[in-house]
Amino acid sequence: MCYNCAMNIKDWHVHTDFSFDSTEPLENYLALAEAVGEDLVFTDHLEFSNPYSGIDDLPDWQAFCERVDKINSAGKSPHVYKGIEIGWNPADGERIREWLSGKSIDVKLLSVHNNGEYDYMDDVARGLKASDIVDDYFNNMSIAIEEFPDVDILTHFEYGVRLIDVDLEEFKQLAEAHLRRIFAQLTTHDIALEINAKSAFAYGNYELVKYGVALYKEVGGTKLTLGSDAHRVSEYRRQFDELEKLL
Ligand SMILES: [Zn+2]
Ligand SMILES: [Zn+2]
Repeated sequence: MCYNCAMNIKDWHVHTDFSFDSTEPLENYLALAEAVGEDLVFTDHLEFSNPYSGIDDLPDWQAFCERVDKINSAGKSPHVYKGIEIGWNPADGERIREWLSGKSIDVKLLSVHNNGEYDYMDDVARGLKASDIVDDYFNNMSIAIEEFPDVDILTHFEYGVRLIDVDLEEFKQLAEAHLRRIFAQLTTHDIALEINAKSAFAYGNYELVKYGVALYKEVGGTKLTLGSDAHRVSEYRRQFDELEKLL
């Protein structure tokens, strides 16, 4: 990974029509990636028992591989890497492991979107205070990392408070001890920390993101990635010029 040359910074978090919440055909990203001289990493959702939809939301891996292999076998740039965004929940560790087993996956993201009862971005979270949710969210994140220590990247660390009105000072008070523990876990397992463009710019949490990245560096973290979390081509590499300053 290149930390200081803009040309070589990949977008490590991109969704396509293999995700339950995207309709963007993966081929639509090709020209954009080619224009910036970068390879592509697609990371569609693997979300067992998704409280948002009430079902298991899983990508059709075989069909996905066929589409990607077709692009790669044409031998043109960009190369497409096969990734997955693993959505952890407390009940489905075994089913997630079963799904992953035997598959050749280039990049694994780990996300905590829900606590087994509700997604942290469901309406139910809107009525909560930060103090109601922070311990639950980060304790789940710690468990998720220990259950899946061989992932590559931990995504959007502030997802749990996206719908909650919390300023930086309150967030620091509630979250700092948790984040120090979690960042140490990342270092132990050689997992990178993602800087998520949606966190920073779609959900107004840029201050939290900057604080988290500074804390991660303070405790010795050295692996950072940028992820647009694009669900459509217009979001690909969203505001990377700005985010690159944090690397
Ligand atoms: Zn996510
Ligand atoms: Zn995502």
